[in-house]
Amino acid sequence: MHKVAIVGRPNVGKSSLFNRLIGRREAVVADFPGVTRDVKEGVMLYENHRIVLMDTGGLWSGDEWEAPIREKAEMAMEDALAVIFVCDPREGLSAADYEVADWLRRLNLPVVLVANKIDSLKHDVYLAELWGLGFGEPLPVSAEHARGLDDLMDRVVSHL
Ligand code: GDP
Ligand code: MG
Repeated sequence: MHKVAIVGRPNVGKSSLFNRLIGRREAVVADFPGVTRDVKEGVMLYENHRIVLMDTGGLWSGDEWEAPIREKAEMAMEDALAVIFVCDPREGLSAADYEVADWLRRLNLPVVLVANKIDSLKHDVYLAELWGLGFGEPLPVSAEHARGLDDLMDRVVSHL
């Protein structure tokens, strides 16, 4: 069983993406940060792969949950084969996104950088900034509109 973790700062759409990929609404999606504290697992099938996706809590939230959430995410990632790093370029990168990027570099796992909330082509203008995170080309997706998900999963399975 291949495990893949979804990580990022709060509110970028990790749980939305998780739900969309596993095809069920299991993780709670909310307009405010900090809803997911424990790691949530869900199974998805893609091509010949059976993948256990892990939805993790928002990293570098700046609140009291920051340290325990990061510890839980780190534990979950001990058996992950790849990471989906979710950002929200429409909101722009924050210090938290750069913290997550540095943390991921230390963990030494393959990282697929995802720009979420790219609901239509007109949002592509927001992508350029994400190159600065140091994980190469950002993949535009929209969890809400189910855009870009096959390209994302092709990239993910290339690391399994
Ligand atoms: P998480 O904190 O990273 O798990 O983020 P959530 O999945 O809870 O989503 C945070 C907010 O972003 C919610 O209001 C979602 O409806 C919204 N959201 C998530 N994905 C998208 C998307 O693809 N497009 C847009 N426009 N909003 C999204
Ligand atoms: Mg969440």
